[in-house]
Amino acid sequence: MNTYMEPATGPAECAACGWKGDAIDVECAIADFGDRVAPGEICPAGECPECGALAHLIEKPDPAPELLAALKALRTELRAHVKLDVKRHYSLMVADAAAGTAIAKAEA
Ligand SMILES: [Zn+2]
Repeated sequence: MNTYMEPATGPAECAACGWKGDAIDVECAIADFGDRVAPGEICPAGECPECGALAHLIEKPDPAPELLAALKALRTELRAHVKLDVKRHYSLMVADAAAGTAIAKAEA
């Protein structure tokens, strides 16, 4: 008997074969759901389009809002200092770039 999962979108992957793609491409009908998914286990998005194993949505970690705000504040500070003396504060420029990358990643 098949169990039909609510169609989902977003990044998904199959732990069995390594397939990665969009959840829209997984097979929403899961055969023998009760035998394959234990109670309390993370609910699969569906069956892997490549191998038929269970595919799951990839959970995007929630960026900690306080941490992000602190990072932005730090970056503002860094920028102010870098402006004063670019040559002397090369390492601050590097730190600024690193903070910028982290912020962009968290907000993606
Ligand atoms: Zn697979």
